[in-house]
This record gives sequence, C-alpha cells and structure tokens, in this order.
Amino acid sequence: MLRDVAKDLALRIVDLAHVDVDRVLFVAESARRGSRASTRPTVFKDTGTRKSEDGQYRRPKIKIGGKRVAYVIALRPKFFLDSTVEERVRTIIHELYHVAPQFDGRLAERRRHQQLPHGEYQETIDRMVGEYMESANSRLLIRLAAHGEVWMVQWLARPPLKARAEDRAARRTYTERDLFEGPVLMRTTTSAWLEKMKDSDCFDSDLFWQNQTKKEEKNASESKKEKEEVVGGNP
Ligand SMILES: [Zn+2]
Repeated sequence: MLRDVAKDLALRIVDLAHVDVDRVLFVAESARRGSRASTRPTVFKDTGTRKSEDGQYRRPKIKIGGKRVAYVIALRPKFFLDSTVEERVRTIIHELYHVAPQFDGRLAERRRHQQLPHGEYQETIDRMVGEYMESANSRLLIRLAAHGEVWMVQWLARPPLKARAEDRAARRTYTERDLFEGPVLMRTTTSAWLEKMKDSDCFDSDLFWQNQTKKEEKNASESKKEKEEVVGGNP
C-alpha cells in the first residue's frame, strides 16, 4: 500500500525523484514519543559505510528480496490512527525528503531539521503536499483512507541501529525472514480530499472509508436487532 504511494510520490515530485522506492523498507513500528514516523539511515554519516569512523561499530545489513535496503521508514501508531489522507501524505513526503540526494544510505544533511529554519521546512513540505494532492493518482491514494484493519510489514526481530564491531554474537544481516505481515488498526478521519472523492467510483472496494462507515451502521443496526430479540425472546 505505502510502497505504491511512495513510488507515485517519487514519480511526481521533483524533489523526491532520487528516491529508489524499491530500496526503502516501510515497517509499522511501536510508538516513540509523539512521532508519526522516522527514517533510519543504514550507513554511518562520516564514512558512508556500515563501519564507524573509529572502527568500533557496525550497522547491520538489511537485504530484502536480494536488494540492499538503503533506508528504513518506520510508521508509528499516530500515522495509522485518527489521521486524514493529507496528513499521511505529508508524513510520507516528510520522511522521503530526509533521504540524501545521492541515495547512499545517509540522511540529507541540508534537509535536517536543525539545518533549516522550522518555518522553511514546513513550507517546503506544504508546497509538495499541495502539488501532489492536485495531481495524485486517486485510485492509489484512496488506499490511505482505509478504515479498519490493514496488513503491514513488521519486524519479527528488529535490527539494532548499530552493534559493537567486536560483538561476535551480533547479527550482520537481516532479511525478509525477520519480517512478517500483521494487522494494524487504521482509523481515517475525513478531510477535504476524501469528501471530494466520495462521488467518484474509487469507493468500490470494502477497504474504503465510506463502505466501512456503512458497515459500521449495518453492524450497529444488527446488534440492536439482536438485543431486541434477546429481550423479546425466551419462549
Ligand atoms: Zn523529520
């Protein structure tokens, strides 16, 4: 779901054209303070390799489907719960914007929050969100409006950010065997974009917000009926 949206973003936003989405791993992770998501580099900033400058630390290699993962983007509960499609797009753009223009596993130095005034950073992201929402592939984007259980890739064994080079027990490589797909609860708040989509034929699938709401109404009326039967029952 997220991979396809991210590919569409990289295709349509000039500032994200350098992102090779096939080498970005999206995982659902647990909460970390109030953060919605975070991007983890896979190499050390100073050396550009998995070995630290002083040789004391190593970063594990992550290889999925034979491809070296360059970045891991962790999506946290706040991303999935009570968010609008626009907010989710903003989070994904924000995270992809941290990816270095060289796509070398490092974070973009000039795009770090400390390097840019807060307002400027927000403005840049706002501009990209605005542009994208105008031209987005609605059929793709509507998946971010899912309401209910969605299946997301998660860690079975989460690689540490780094391990001591001398630690022989530390695993060097992580693969798809360390991942699983499991349910995550997604609750979508309606928004200007979603309201606009209501009249389109994008709502065909069960996954989407409108049908889900209908289902909830149906469930509510069914459970009401059950209660009435219980009350009126007992021969
Ligand atoms: Zn950030």
